[in-house]
Amino acid sequence: MPSSTTGAPVGADFDDPVSAPGSVGVGKLASQVARRIEGEIIGRGWPVGAVLGSEQDLRVRYGVSRSVLREAVRLAEHHQVARMRRGPNGGLLVRAPDAIPATRALVIFLEYIGTTVEDLMFARLLLEPLAAGLAAARIDEDGVLRLRECLAEEQQRAAEPGIFAQDVLHVLVGESSGNPVLGLFVDVLARLTARYAHATRLVSRDEVTRGKAHAHTTHLEIVEAVISGDGGRAQAASADHLRRVSAWLLERRTRRVRTGVATRQPSEPGAKLAEVVAGRIHDEITRRGWPVGQVLGSEADLLARHGVSRAVLREAVRLLEYHSVARMRRGPGGGLVVTAPDPRASMETIALYLSYRRVSAEDLVVVRETVEVGALGRVLARRDDPAVVAGLGQAAAGDGFHAGLAKLSENPVLEIFLGILTELWARHRGAEGGQGAACTGNGGNGDGGRVHQRIVEAVLVGDEGLAQHRLRRHIQHLTA
Ligand SMILES: [Zn+2]
Ligand SMILES: [Zn+2]
Repeated sequence: MPSSTTGAPVGADFDDPVSAPGSVGVGKLASQVARRIEGEIIGRGWPVGAVLGSEQDLRVRYGVSRSVLREAVRLAEHHQVARMRRGPNGGLLVRAPDAIPATRALVIFLEYIGTTVEDLMFARLLLEPLAAGLAAARIDEDGVLRLRECLAEEQQRAAEPGIFAQDVLHVLVGESSGNPVLGLFVDVLARLTARYAHATRLVSRDEVTRGKAHAHTTHLEIVEAVISGDGGRAQAASADHLRRVSAWLLERRTRRVRTGVATRQPSEPGAKLAEVVAGRIHDEITRRGWPVGQVLGSEADLLARHGVSRAVLREAVRLLEYHSVARMRRGPGGGLVVTAPDPRASMETIALYLSYRRVSAEDLVVVRETVEVGALGRVLARRDDPAVVAGLGQAAAGDGFHAGLAKLSENPVLEIFLGILTELWARHRGAEGGQGAACTGNGGNGDGGRVHQRIVEAVLVGDEGLAQHRLRRHIQHLTA
């Protein structure tokens, strides 16, 4: 599970002297330089369109060789933070990031590791009612219009096939919360739900029509509560609706299969050709059920299949390698090999995207509290399990308490979301020149480092209220 905050080594294209075996240090140095470049962008308030400097300027500023700088720039490009522009007025250009590719990669990862419908719906029940409640407090006239338009469209499309086209409303309520973190997490969960809905057994047209009519009525209730500013009612209506969705999905669950549903989407405007090719290969791997170790073809095969230049294909391969989708293996029997996915790259990209969206400390705290209190609830329910007791002891003794708690919840969605939140937190602190290190329990609230221990004590005696109180206060102090 994700714990490192420095990127995985990137672009192990063995033709490239930069990352050839034996020069491991270069990749590490490049990832440190990339992090400093990204810190500079965050620190300067993400000035889209500004030039940070020419390649020569940056080499001097960071005191590194050309090959290290180029590798660092490639990383920043993968993170969608900046792009190198050639020619006169060239240099490293700050860009507005796009969260869609990383979001998609994260959804596929969560599916790949076998996230259950229960895990997924547990997370939705934590976050969506929260979003609905916040939306009631923050919605403006434009937002009111958008919600009503969405409902009108939903009604118009009631006769169309498909079960979960109505998730659009959920995503819109997430956005209406005005909290970019919540908006993005709700989007991830809606996409994942859609994939599970495809995997359920066939249901009759009649049943679908009834289900949609009911969902539409409930959506109306949620929306009207949001618009009227009744946060409590919006929250309750959202939770009630999600419980029904959850029951529906669980009743119709088939044997868990990797659905192989392609994620193909119209390529985003402005996407580079290499990104489009990488997307196509990613889709192909998903359709095949993600066969780790399988060779998709030699470089020559892929050049012929995709009809692009060698340079474009190699850039696409670097992207796939960066996101742990596939890796180019040289030599006999070589070719593009499917790898086990690793979410770290996507998590980092999402954390950076959220920095760009200027998440406030308040936004961060409210989501972090909700996710961690949710994890705590799962751990409390299993506190008689000796493995949980041992795990809690270990977590409280080290400096990985929060990640440890998320891991003990055994809910991969919560674990990934908390990983993104701590990465985002570390990036902010880093940009302010502070330490982005793990929490040692010294939250500055006079507990002298014992705060984690005190949370664990409350968990072990089963005092849920006190455990939650201590955890919430601790998180609030951390952010203060
Ligand atoms: Zn719904
Ligand atoms: Zn802590």
